[in-house]
Formats: sequence, C-alpha cells, structure tokens
Amino acid sequence: MKQVLDAQKQLFNDQVTKSYAFRFQQLSKLKEAILKRQNDITQALKKDLGKSSFEAYATEIGYTLKSIQFIQKRLKTWMNRKKVKTPFFQLLTTSYIQPEPKGQILIIGPFNYPFQLVIEPLIGAIAAGNTVFLKPSEFTPNVSKIIEKIIKETFDSSYIHVVQGGVEVTQALLDLSFDHIFFTGSTKVGQIIYEKAAQKLIPVTLELGGKSPTIVDETANIKVTARRIVYGKFLNAGQTCIAPDYIYVQQNVKDTLEKALIDTLKEFYPNYDNLTHIVSDQHVDRLKKLINKKKVLYQGNIIDKKIEPIIMHDVTWDDDVMKDEIFGPILPILTFENLDEVISVLKTKPKPLALYVFSESKSNIKRIFNQLSFGNGAINDTIMQVVNPHLPFGGVGHSGIGNYHGKASFDVFSHMKTYVKHSTKFDPAIAYPPYTKKKEKLIKNILK
Ligand code: NAD
Repeated sequence: MKQVLDAQKQLFNDQVTKSYAFRFQQLSKLKEAILKRQNDITQALKKDLGKSSFEAYATEIGYTLKSIQFIQKRLKTWMNRKKVKTPFFQLLTTSYIQPEPKGQILIIGPFNYPFQLVIEPLIGAIAAGNTVFLKPSEFTPNVSKIIEKIIKETFDSSYIHVVQGGVEVTQALLDLSFDHIFFTGSTKVGQIIYEKAAQKLIPVTLELGGKSPTIVDETANIKVTARRIVYGKFLNAGQTCIAPDYIYVQQNVKDTLEKALIDTLKEFYPNYDNLTHIVSDQHVDRLKKLINKKKVLYQGNIIDKKIEPIIMHDVTWDDDVMKDEIFGPILPILTFENLDEVISVLKTKPKPLALYVFSESKSNIKRIFNQLSFGNGAINDTIMQVVNPHLPFGGVGHSGIGNYHGKASFDVFSHMKTYVKHSTKFDPAIAYPPYTKKKEKLIKNILK
C-alpha cells in the first residue's frame, strides 16, 4: 500500500492529475465504466443486500451518473482562480482564491449504499484533481469486488487504487500519510478515524449517522405524511443514514397516523418483493433485540435476512429501540401534547444527521427549525434533501464533520489557496519600521 501511495504522490507531483482536460476525461471514463458494468453492479447489490433493480438504479447507479454529469458541466468554472475584493488601504493590490487539489485522498465506505457512497466522493476527488485510495465495505463483498474491477479496468493504480479488507486493513491504511480522509460510517468508528488522523494532522470529512427525528403535528396532511414517511423509512429496509429513525406525533392525530401508516405499507409493499435485506445475521440479531412485543402495532415476517416492516407505538425514551440509531425497518412512534416538550427533549440529544417536520403550521415549523440543530432535513418530506446537488450534504456534531455533493464535493477535496499580488510601482513606508509617532497615528486612523 505504501508503494502504491508513493506512486500516486509521484503522479500528483508530476502534475498529471491537475489539468481540466485530465479531470474531465477521467470523469467521462468513470461514467463509461459504470454504464458498461451497470448490470454487474445491479446483480452484486441483489446478492449482497437483496436490493431491487429500481432502488439499485435510483439510489446507486443513476445517482452517480447524474452526479458526474452535474460536475462535468460546472468543473471549469469551479477550477478558475477567483478575484476577490481588497481593502482600500492595500493600494495597488489584487487578491485571489485559487482552488488546488489536496493530494492523496483516502475514501472509506459503509455497507448500506456500498456503491454510491464510495463512488460519489470519488467523483468529487477526481474533479478536484487528486489521486485516490478506495476502501469499500467488507460486508458487501460482491459490490466491493465489482468496484475493484471497474477501477482496475479503467484507471492505473498510481491514480486510483482499491484496497479490500476489514478493520485491520483500514487501520493499516490510517498509518499512511494521506492529505484527506473521507469516511462514511458509524459515529463510533468515525471517532477512531478522527483520533488516528489527528496524529498526523490529516483533515477529515466524517459522514456519520444517528437518530433522525420525524415530528408530525396536528396540522399535518396525514395521508401524504404517511406515504412520505413509509417511503423514507423502508427504502433500503431502513438502512439509510437519513432515514426517519422514529416518529414524534401529536397525541390527537396519533391514531389517524397509525392507520395511515399501515394502509400505506400494504399499498407500497403488497408482498414485500421489493424490500431490501438486512446486510448480515449479526444486524438481524441486533434488530430483533429492539422489538418489544408488547408495543408492536404492526409486524410482517422475519425470513432469514429479510425483516418486513415493524411499527411500534406507545414507545418512550426508556425503550431499547430509542437507545441507538436503529438502521433497520423498525419504526417506533412516540407522542407529545405540545411542541415545546419535543423541542426541549431534542435539545438534550446529540444533533441528528437529519430532521423531518410534517406540518401545515408555519409557526410550528419556524419554532422547530430556529431552535434545533441538525445536519440536513425536510419540511413535509423525507430523504429528498439528499437528491438536490445544489445542497451540501453532511452532519453536525455527533452526526458528522464537513459536507459534500455538487460544488461541495469539489470544495471538500480542494485547498483554497489564497494570495495577494502587489504592484512595485508605489511603495509607501507607512507599515515599515522605524515606527514613528506620525506613522502610529496614521495606522490608528486606518485600522479603526
Ligand atoms: P461502520 O462504521 O461499521 O464501517 C464503515 C467502514 O469503516 C467500513 O469500511 C469498515 O471496514 C471500517 N471500519 C469498521 N471498524 C473499523 C475500525 N475499528 N477501525 C477502522 N475502520 C473500521 O459503518 P457501517 O455499519 O458500514 O455503516 C452504517 C453506519 O454508517 C450508520 O451509522 C449510518 O448512519 C452511517 N452512514 C452515514 C452516511 C452519511 O452520509 N452520513 C451514509 C451511510 C451510512
């Protein structure tokens, strides 16, 4: 790994990866390779996660193709040096911001969208002119293999290299000197990555998880609310970092919402054919332990790694299901009488990655959005904030550090180099020693 990284440093220092033409061409090559292998990717996603071909295309393959197109269209403008204003007292000076690639990037991916969550940051890293090491998840071996195949047949390892393996391999990677580490995964492992990176002062992006609340008040359009929550929760069988983790519903609309959720589930999943599987037996066991039979409102079957949706009601913060991020198809429902209660409880919890509000009351929405901090969110919807490339995506506090998508993907892998250019035609002595009383008076006049 050290040898490959040295070769990448060499390629980078030889200026190969930095030109606009090179970056644009590599993005085109990646797009072609994805298109060529899209059936293999779909099959691998089916094998590892039982993902339907619709979800495979919408959330992994098509998602990355669209992203390449978006970035290619704007890349030239983003790469340009930008002239910015200069204070009047810096006479005959101009000031610039010049984005430059950071260098050697390490991207570590999770299992839940195993293709997209490795390729999407890769697109940003290529666009910003870097070389890249990719470490896909060991829990989705078929997808990881196809990622390696695509990369090997498209790029030289001195430019982009795939490393396969689990914890030990990742820890060995963390001993190397990268210029940026981009990690997507759990908060617990994110802390390990951050600590390791700190030893070498390597900047990090941490795309983490957490419990994302969904608040439904009495003014909400319950039918639409139920459809959008069921969609967001059971997409990928709840294994989505921004899935609604739980519902907080106003007591007087609880029964109506519960009925609407069950009706929607039956409509969306008549036979659960399109439901993704849970990634491993270990996660199935973890999820089973969260089910409190006395509180189950609705439950499908559990057949091997396929857990059909489970809705639990009358849940409180003392229930096991409310301790950690659920990351599976279990939807707990808590109730509230008045909104201040919810706001004050949520202020005591770690800042979530996403927060959703279903309400037709402008003042309720305003109260929630003004008082609670969260990475990203939606009003009367779930998940859709992640689809818009004009919105930077990331967490806050325990749910992450930094963001990407669209322009933010270019920025995160670029260093914004700044400098001034000063004319030599005029060189007033005011800032130079020897410092006289007159100069001091003048400087106090300028810098006040
Ligand atoms: P994970 O943290 O277990 O694993 C992620 C990666 O870290 C894997 O490649 C794994 O090999 C590596 N890893 C695991 N243990 C390690 C260790 N001790 N040292 C070094 N590396 C280690 O995450 P996961 O289970 O694959 O994914 C689920 C989590 O990811 C959830 O918490 C979810 O919310 C989060 N997630 C966040 C986003 C986001 O964009 N914010 C997206 C998807 C998933």
